Amino acid sequence: MNHPVQVTRSSMPGFDEYIEEIKELWETQWLTNMGVKHTRLEVELARYLNTSNVALFANGHLALEYIIAALNLKGEVITTPFTFASTTHAIVRNGLTPIFCDINPDDYTIQTEYLESLITEKTSAIIPVHVYGNVCNVKEIERIAKKYKLKVIYDAAHAFGVTVNGEGVANFGDASMFSFHATKVFNTIEGGAITCADSSISELLNTYKNFGITGPETVKYIGGNAKMNEFQAAMGICNLRNVDQEIKKREKNYNRYVEHLSEMKGIKLSLPPKNTKSNFAYLPVVFDGFSRSRNEIFEELKKQNIFARKYFYPLTNSLECYQGKFIPNHTPVAEYIAENVLTLPLYADLNLEDVDKICAIIKTHHQNLQLIIPR
Ligand SMILES: *Cc1c(COP(=O)(O)O)cnc(C)c1O
Repeated sequence: MNHPVQVTRSSMPGFDEYIEEIKELWETQWLTNMGVKHTRLEVELARYLNTSNVALFANGHLALEYIIAALNLKGEVITTPFTFASTTHAIVRNGLTPIFCDINPDDYTIQTEYLESLITEKTSAIIPVHVYGNVCNVKEIERIAKKYKLKVIYDAAHAFGVTVNGEGVANFGDASMFSFHATKVFNTIEGGAITCADSSISELLNTYKNFGITGPETVKYIGGNAKMNEFQAAMGICNLRNVDQEIKKREKNYNRYVEHLSEMKGIKLSLPPKNTKSNFAYLPVVFDGFSRSRNEIFEELKKQNIFARKYFYPLTNSLECYQGKFIPNHTPVAEYIAENVLTLPLYADLNLEDVDKICAIIKTHHQNLQLIIPR
C-alpha cells in the first residue's frame, strides 16, 4: 500500500467545530477545575451512556486507580491477564495483589467458571475487562460477587456505547471505567470516566481527583490530581456529537472484514451476539489452524505498509515488571489467544478498499501455502 495504514486513527471533529467550542474559554479564562465544558460533558455523557453518575478524569488509567482507592479495596483482586497493562498496574499500584483468572476461548472475557475457585478470605473484588468491547458474563459475575460480598469494577475502556438487551454497559457492577484516549472509539484526546450506581462514590471520586479538597479551607482526604481540563472536555463535547456517525462508519468497515474473513478456514472472529449493540472498536482475528502463524501474517502486512497490532501480547501476568512477583496462575487459554491474535486496522475513516487489500494479503498467504502442502 502506498500510504501506511495504522491499526487505528483518532476521530476528530472539524477544525471549525472545535474552535467554536473553545472560543468561550478566552472569555471566561477558566481552563480547568470543573468548568462549564467539564460540567456539560458530564451531563451529556450520563445521557449518552444511559446512566446516572459520571465522574470525569484526566485519563482512564487514573480513573481506575482512583475507583479502586475509593472503594477501599484490600488484599486480592481477581482479574484477567488478557488486557492492557493499565488494568493490572492499577491494582498493583494500589498495593493489592492481582489473582489472574483465565478467559473464554470465544469472546476472550474472564472465564466465570473459574472465579469461585480463586476466591480466598483475602479477596475483595473482581476487575474484569469488556475486552475489544465484548461484554463479560455480567449476570454470573454479579451472582458470585453477591454471594461472596465482593466489589466489581469493570474495565470498560473498550466498551463505550455498547448495550446488552438495551442496557448500557455503564450500569453493570459497582463501577465501570471508560477510557477516552485518542485511540478509543470516543476520545477527549486523553481522558476517562467512572460511572457508578452510588452517587456518594462519584462525589468521593470528584474530591479524590482534586487533592481531597472538600471546602475552601478543608482537605478531608489524601487525594491526588486527575482532573480533566476544559480543552479535553470541549473535544469530548464535539466528538460526542459525531460519535454515532463514527460508529456507523466503523461498522461498515467491520462488516467488510467479516465478509472477507468469516468463511476463511483457520481464522476465528469474535462477532457480537444478537442481543448486543457493538461499538465496532476492534477487529481481533485469531489464527487458529491457519496455514501461517500470527507473527508471519503480522510481518507480511508490515512489509506492505500495514501496521496491525498484537493486542494483547504479552499477557499482563508475563510482563517483565511482574516476573516472579505474583502467583503465576496458569492461564492456558489466555496464553493461546495472546500467541495467535492479531488486531487488524479499524477506524471510522478507513477505506473499504484498504480493508479489501488487507484481506487480500491474508488470503494470498493462505492460498500460497495450501498449494505447497499437498492434501
Ligand atoms: C486504553 C486502556 C486503558 C487505559 O486508558 P487510558 O485512558 O489510556 O489511561 C485501560 N484498560 C484498557 C483495557 C485499555 O484499553
